[in-house]
Amino acid sequence: MKIRFWGVRGSAPTPGPKTSRIGGNTSCVEVSAGCGETIIFDAGTGIREMGLNYFTRPAPPKRLHLFLSHFHWDHIQGFPFFGPAFLGDVRMDIYGAPGVEGYLAAQMSAPFFPVSLADMKSEKVFHELNGAAMEFGGCSVIPVPLSHPQSSYGFVLMENGVKAVYSSDTEYVAGGNHETFVEMIRDADILMFDAQYTPEQYNKGRVGWGHSTFEAAAEIVKKAGVKKLVLFHHEPTHDDDAVEEIERRARELFPDTVAAREGMTIEI
Ligand SMILES: [Zn+2]
Ligand SMILES: [Zn+2]
Repeated sequence: MKIRFWGVRGSAPTPGPKTSRIGGNTSCVEVSAGCGETIIFDAGTGIREMGLNYFTRPAPPKRLHLFLSHFHWDHIQGFPFFGPAFLGDVRMDIYGAPGVEGYLAAQMSAPFFPVSLADMKSEKVFHELNGAAMEFGGCSVIPVPLSHPQSSYGFVLMENGVKAVYSSDTEYVAGGNHETFVEMIRDADILMFDAQYTPEQYNKGRVGWGHSTFEAAAEIVKKAGVKKLVLFHHEPTHDDDAVEEIERRARELFPDTVAAREGMTIEI
């Protein structure tokens, strides 16, 4: 399984010289599974970059599975700019909470965008998540409800004996009771987790905003026996130095930790 990070930022894109090492595009992660399937988690602005890259591949996949955690802007905003969605020989399976098709169509309607969802020539098959596992081509993806305003899903991906968890927007507090989530991700090979805030920021007026800290992330991976932690959904006001300081502090709590960076790949 190869995981590639196309967008690692939370809330809003942050281009510019102060974020050039970590990257400024919003949430998008591509997984090339060992069974040959291509899975994409979220369609933030990073998916536009993935789309550009797609056209440079010698044999790009003709079927793409896009899982949307929720519909906040930073997770869908790149979708109208995703080139492969305009190709007639591509099939996109799109998974999201009930209403997913309507929400994507609304984003691509007047006066917000001049090209409609129906104008995208790919075959689009929508799947409304109801808690059941999605199975395709030797992969299984289990949606996990998270703690986030207006709700959000995490995804547990299993294939060929590898277990990877994408868990973006969620608010877990260090010292809290997260047993259901811990059981869902138990013994995972990798957890990509919302680590937007420092504990100091969280405790200074950000309770209830729907995001976690690296401290909560480290506690959860230790409890669940997860092998590797990827800090994800970086706070937009954090420049490269700030994110790398969070990475340093997180490693003191859980050594096998890395802050997600745009363009980074991990093979497991
Ligand atoms: Zn977000
Ligand atoms: Zn959100």
